Amino acid sequence: MRRYLHCFIAMLLFSSFLFSAEKIEELEKKLPTVSGKEKVEVLDELARAYREISPQKTLEYSKEALELSQKLGYRKGKALSLHNFGSGYYYLGNYEMALEYDLKSLEIRKQIGDKNGIAASFYNIGRIYVDLGNYDKALEYYLESLKMREIIGNRKDVASTLNDIGIIYDNLGKYDKALEYYLQSLKIREMIGDKDGTAASLNNIGIVYDNMDNSNRALEYYLKSLKIYEEIENKKGIAASLNNIGLVYRISGDYKKALEYQLKSLKIEKEIGNKYGLAISLNNIGSIYLELRNYDEAFSYVNQGLNLAKEIGAKISIQDSYRHLSKLYSKKGNYKKAFEYYRLYSEVKDSIYTEEGSKRIAEMQTKYETEKKEREIELLKKDRIIEQSRKRMFIFLLIITLSIIVFLVYLYRLKIKMNEKLDLLSRTDPLTKLPNRRDILEKIRMEKIRFERSKKPFVLVLCDIDGFKKLNDKYGHNVGDSILISISNLMRKSIRMQDFICRWGGEEFLFFLPETNLEGGIISAEKLREKIANSIYHSGKHKLLIHMTFGVSVYDKIMDINDCIKQADNALYEGKKSGGNQVVVAKRDTRKK
Ligand code: GH3
Ligand code: MG
Ligand code: MG
Repeated sequence: MRRYLHCFIAMLLFSSFLFSAEKIEELEKKLPTVSGKEKVEVLDELARAYREISPQKTLEYSKEALELSQKLGYRKGKALSLHNFGSGYYYLGNYEMALEYDLKSLEIRKQIGDKNGIAASFYNIGRIYVDLGNYDKALEYYLESLKMREIIGNRKDVASTLNDIGIIYDNLGKYDKALEYYLQSLKIREMIGDKDGTAASLNNIGIVYDNMDNSNRALEYYLKSLKIYEEIENKKGIAASLNNIGLVYRISGDYKKALEYQLKSLKIEKEIGNKYGLAISLNNIGSIYLELRNYDEAFSYVNQGLNLAKEIGAKISIQDSYRHLSKLYSKKGNYKKAFEYYRLYSEVKDSIYTEEGSKRIAEMQTKYETEKKEREIELLKKDRIIEQSRKRMFIFLLIITLSIIVFLVYLYRLKIKMNEKLDLLSRTDPLTKLPNRRDILEKIRMEKIRFERSKKPFVLVLCDIDGFKKLNDKYGHNVGDSILISISNLMRKSIRMQDFICRWGGEEFLFFLPETNLEGGIISAEKLREKIANSIYHSGKHKLLIHMTFGVSVYDKIMDINDCIKQADNALYEGKKSGGNQVVVAKRDTRKK
């Protein structure tokens, strides 16, 4: 008895969105104002809207849409019209015609490559086979539809297909598989906020638990489902949940409560004219009366259920009715009739579920899973390619960035070098390549600061070539220049590591001797004087003797640097006055050679 329910739920799920009366009114008003393809679309929409209210109207509108789309050569419209034709026949319970039209529609959709359409056709064909109790065929179409919908990526459709596959597994008694599919479906539906779908999934999970004899969990899920259905005022859903809750009570032996819920459900089914649900409810109520040993009532309800099920060709319901009738006759002691119904029951049952069918189902499941895996591998490959090109791009950008950084660093260092060079140039005398006045003054100033701390004296020696003007006049300016260079080189070579020398200007040079006292300064100056005076300077064919005069001053107390230089200059002047080629000490004493 429980099994019929699944089909009932299936029916509930298959029924598409119920259009409101206003929607239909709006479409019917729109109809005379449109033409061409648009008219086909409006007609198809109307056909769809009427499916559950009046399948006959669905057929009428579909016919008009079909004729018009054929005239227009509008293939997509034609496929949709045929699809709606199929739906109309499905709702009328004419499964043969429904199948014929759905297959025609599928054919066109395959030709024009309408993926959504193909998936919908597969789905419709699947649901027909479900209602006919041919589960292996149903599963085959559902899995095709699922595959297509997963490719398209419409989550709502994927969820409903997963759900329907769950229904089939549930019907086949493969509860673990059923639960797996239902839970996948529920997850998607909750995620996308599909309340109707969520309620249906909850209901179906309840059914599986029910079938696994876990009544408490079943009831829990049914109640959750009922709550949502009431919230969204889905009468079909409410009826289904009430029916299921009734069944839980029936199993637990609370027949009174069971009957109460079943009757509530029946009332709603009648109200909405759902023949399929009605057949199930009638059977269920009949079975409860059977338990209550009210055989007349039981017979009446089951019989009504059987007639209705036969009318719509619902195999499962028929099978259930036969089972109840067999039991009923057996209770009554009419074993002949009981056996007759049992045989009918077995026949229907066997036509629904055969060994071969089960094998095919397993094969199809494997095929579907393999294909799914292949698709996933394809996607992974694509992902990997994207990932690789991303990586390459990243490395490329990294190299570019690093190159730019390296180039900038190079530019920066070049700039520093240039600055250093410029700085050096600005501190160097171009002729002699000795440091110039600016450079040495900076060093002296630094030493002056150090002196303030260390009190270590330093010496400045100003020196000047004697009679240089004459030399220039006699040998020419070039000879003068080369003498300046030679003397500079000699002086550079002669001074100590820590000492400095600069070209002060013209043929004047300044020595700076850090951390040196006056005595040391005098000795150094004297050595230099001697060395210069004893050297022979070559210029072309000329051999020349040059000498210089030195003025020495010591910085041993805080004073102005210029004053200290001035003192050296004065001493130098003194030396010149006294004939040159000598070292003269500022103020204190004068040494003469
Ligand atoms: P004194 O012994 O008194 O120092 O006499 P002097 O001739 O050496 O000094 P004076 O100041 O009279 O003349 C300096 C000369 O040095 C004048 C100038 O032409 C020459 N002189 C200055 N700078 C340069 C230079 O760069 N190259 C050359 N060739 N001569 C220079
Ligand atoms: Mg001179
Ligand atoms: Mg001079």
